[in-house]
Amino acid sequence: MDRSSFVLAGGALFAVPFVACAKTLDAVPRWRPAMDVPIKKTEAEWKKELPPDRYAVLREGATEPPFSGALLEVHDKGIFVCAACGNELFSSATKFESGTGWPSFYQPLAKDRVILRRDTSYGMIREEVLCARCGSHLGHVFDDGPPPTHLRYCMNSLAMEFKKEG
Ligand SMILES: [Zn+2]
Repeated sequence: MDRSSFVLAGGALFAVPFVACAKTLDAVPRWRPAMDVPIKKTEAEWKKELPPDRYAVLREGATEPPFSGALLEVHDKGIFVCAACGNELFSSATKFESGTGWPSFYQPLAKDRVILRRDTSYGMIREEVLCARCGSHLGHVFDDGPPPTHLRYCMNSLAMEFKKEG
């Protein structure tokens, strides 16, 4: 048996979960917020306003670790808003249990609340979801959701705040 390739394979197996966990809140290389949006602030201003973990997701494109988010288990009636600018993004009525570890919705409150952008980071082709008001990163959308849209908006809890109804 070729011992060196065995060691290499073992190292690679170890390296994958290590990267996924330890590097999750690192900025995505070359990521930029959407610029053609009504709210324009400098990155210095955003950095001052947002806690570091929220800043990493919203303004650097990072993804929170699965099952870590505060909004995952929210089942009350209300509205999920952008944690950077307050833009109303999703209704609790469209939230569903995806089992992925991230808050999941089958549609935004209105189409114009979000911007979709092709994301090819990390060797994957994904559709990124950004806030249409401030250009911040929110998550990704996939086409394996439930009826009626069959879409799955896979959001970061850190990118949103929950406003309970009533
Ligand atoms: Zn926003």
